[in-house]
Amino acid sequence: MSKKALVLFSGGQDSTVCLAWALSKFDHVETIGFDYGQRHRVELECRLSVLDQFKDQFPQWASKLGEDRVIDLSWLGQISDCALTEERQIELSANGLPNTFVPGRNLVFFLISSAIAYRRGLDTLVGGMCQTDFSGYPDCREDTLKALQVATNLGMASSFRFETPLMWIDKADTYALGNTLGGTALLNIIQEYTHTCYMGDRKQRHEWGYGCGTCPACELRKNGWEKYKLQSNQTLENY
Ligand code: ZN
Repeated sequence: MSKKALVLFSGGQDSTVCLAWALSKFDHVETIGFDYGQRHRVELECRLSVLDQFKDQFPQWASKLGEDRVIDLSWLGQISDCALTEERQIELSANGLPNTFVPGRNLVFFLISSAIAYRRGLDTLVGGMCQTDFSGYPDCREDTLKALQVATNLGMASSFRFETPLMWIDKADTYALGNTLGGTALLNIIQEYTHTCYMGDRKQRHEWGYGCGTCPACELRKNGWEKYKLQSNQTLENY
């Protein structure tokens, strides 16, 4: 029986590594993205570039890549009132969570993805959520997603597996995993085509990719890249 997965693919660094992970493990892989009125909508364009690059540079993966779809969740932006969907300063809220937190976002993503997977006969859902790099997002945590997997399987009379290959590794190890899966070609795709910056900045190109360089997402990405370089003794010239 062939193994089929649906990857929650945003066009960011983490979900790009997850896509490579799924393509190395499954026979058939489909992708899903969400348009929820995010400020960094440039992500939605980046995800198409990443898919094109995967098809061009990894023929063994191109044959496994199935349908890609973007689901309109503009209502999530309407009800979330946060710094990811509104023009405002990124800071900690009174409850200790960053004001980039979109309440319930990952729960909605997995639930909608499960509905699509149900219809498409895909048994595994793959997401790039991570508990190690502190983001403060409670819906990125292992326990949250395991509980949601159980609730979804009960509610849909299914046996989906929610896989989160990055859950317990940090950003440096995410680069290392990318290198293991797709070598320098994949790291180059991550640097050039994926998007992480909360401000949607794609004018400033750093060694680690595009971004404002100062928002929390850029900081994480930059620090992860620096740590990865130290760990792997990679030189700047190689990239
Ligand atoms: Zn940034």
